[in-house]
Amino acid sequence: MQLSGVVHVNPDGKTAKGRWYGFGANAFPLGEDKVNPGWMNGVYEVNYVKEKKLPNIFQFFKKPWTNGIPSYGRKIITKESKRLLKDAVQGRQGPYRQFIMDDYKEDKKQLFSILDKKDHDLIFWYTTLIDNFGHMDSGKPIKLMKHYLEMNEVAGKVKKSCPGAIIYILSDHGMERMEPKKNAWGMHSNHAFFSSSNGEKIEKPYQFYDLISKHKSE
Ligand SMILES: [Zn+2]
Repeated sequence: MQLSGVVHVNPDGKTAKGRWYGFGANAFPLGEDKVNPGWMNGVYEVNYVKEKKLPNIFQFFKKPWTNGIPSYGRKIITKESKRLLKDAVQGRQGPYRQFIMDDYKEDKKQLFSILDKKDHDLIFWYTTLIDNFGHMDSGKPIKLMKHYLEMNEVAGKVKKSCPGAIIYILSDHGMERMEPKKNAWGMHSNHAFFSSSNGEKIEKPYQFYDLISKHKSE
């Protein structure tokens, strides 16, 4: 549940500020009558990390841009998404699937409009697409593949739009099918994905901080 939301995006698209108070619970089915519960709460703010003065990758760059980072400004769970997810868990999946796609389309629009500006030295783009559909369709690999192909296409377009840029693709977790395998739902696993366009490698997500610090603005 996101309360008291205020978002202001400056006309040049370089800076935006948003602030919410978020509170809520989520749950995914774990077989027939069990759920995997989770809580989320906190003040949600774009550039929240910066304002907390915690070291973060954005400090290394002069003109960073992000559409939000989970737990640090990106609102992932809303009252509406919770309601739709609940319906989806109970079998009515259409509206939640539509919601995920709408959210994704908006993120994608933002990404390409910011790439067009060619005015940023760091672009950190986040999408919930693979996570959301990964939860729903872990047991339906063909269905899930469609979304991976979409990500592949986006990566190709990004590469084309900024040929000289280093591109990193990383996930904060993986997904595995829940046990017992009576439905298609998936839950987060300890595995994750990383790739770079220049051959750099990391083994743990936190090593990305040191990696990106090597490419800071002059
Ligand atoms: Zn998830």
